[in-house]
Amino acid sequence: MSSKEPVLEIQGLCVDYGLGANAVQAVRDVSLTLHRGEVLGLAGESGSGKSTLAYGLTRLLPPPGVISGGKVIYHQPGGDPVDVLRLNDAGLRAFRWAETSIVFQGAMNSLNPVHRISTQLTDVLAAHQPGMSRAARLARARELLKLVGISADRLDSYPHQLSGGMRQRVMIGMALALEPQVVIMDEPTTALDVVMQRQILRQLVDLRERLGFSVLFITHDLSLLVEFSDRIAIMYGGRIVEEAPAAQLYRDSLHPYSDGLLHAFPPLRGERRELTGIPGSPPDLRSMPSGCAFHPRCPKAFDPCGSELPLLGVPVDRPDESRTVACWLHPGA
Ligand code: ATP
Ligand code: SF4
Ligand code: MG
Repeated sequence: MSSKEPVLEIQGLCVDYGLGANAVQAVRDVSLTLHRGEVLGLAGESGSGKSTLAYGLTRLLPPPGVISGGKVIYHQPGGDPVDVLRLNDAGLRAFRWAETSIVFQGAMNSLNPVHRISTQLTDVLAAHQPGMSRAARLARARELLKLVGISADRLDSYPHQLSGGMRQRVMIGMALALEPQVVIMDEPTTALDVVMQRQILRQLVDLRERLGFSVLFITHDLSLLVEFSDRIAIMYGGRIVEEAPAAQLYRDSLHPYSDGLLHAFPPLRGERRELTGIPGSPPDLRSMPSGCAFHPRCPKAFDPCGSELPLLGVPVDRPDESRTVACWLHPGA
């Protein structure tokens, strides 16, 4: 289903919170490509910059967040590439809903409590497809609920009458309302139990097969990504430190931090791994360690690690593989 055709290209994106001497760099020179029809997973501990990246690339950064460098190119089907960071307000509105849709962290609690589900779904359609009749909007809302596995008789419910899982599904339905090319999900399922998380993700992947959109799926739980994504990118201290096809990352992760993450969550299926976690805590953005930011926690740190920053590149010891890593154990070409 996924192709080698890019749909969203992030090039050297930098995002800071604050300005001048007080600025903290939350996203540092991130380059990442989402291909058409693919599920790309983004994992990293709390504070690694995952949400900031999602907010930055959709230009939804709350102040004091500022994009301090880089480009985001959106490839619309059959059209010219769009430079997202240069879109005017109207272009941005269209991009956000019709082309790229986001389900934010904690989104299941962001449904408006005083409006019925039907109103919230039809409002999205009314705002973005003004030509649609009321009856057509209601029919589409019913269809969207069905799509995410909720029976249409729930259309008249208020959010509090639905379970957490159902509210999450409604949010996904809403995100799919305008048939976007790209769906970004930022940790949409952490508040739900593991069984429910898997069900919702499975459904999303099935919908992707049917509707052909691409997914950027953000979570701290790498075991979920291993099961459901095509490729996985690992983030640490604002940088991508490894990117590889999911199966390859699971079998043979190259970066010691990816290794640590893989051993921090129980796998949902397959062989059991010993859970060890990662010693120490994520870096403080205000005083990042020199060299490789992971070196104070890394069990394999050696000479250059504390002083020289390893750049993300195709490892010279794995030249034929479609993966990149930023680690002195596997220097890049
Ligand atoms: P989580 O898994 O907890 O959601 P995350 O990977 O999404 O974490 P971000 O929320 O992107 O991480 O935060 C990245 C860094 O930016 C963190 O160190 C955080 O403290 C900092 N940060 C986030 N929002 C702000 C803000 N409004 N002002 C200042 N710093 C911020
Ligand atoms: Fe560990 Fe060095 Fe690799 Fe960083 S560069 S992950 S410190 S071995
Ligand atoms: Mg986050």
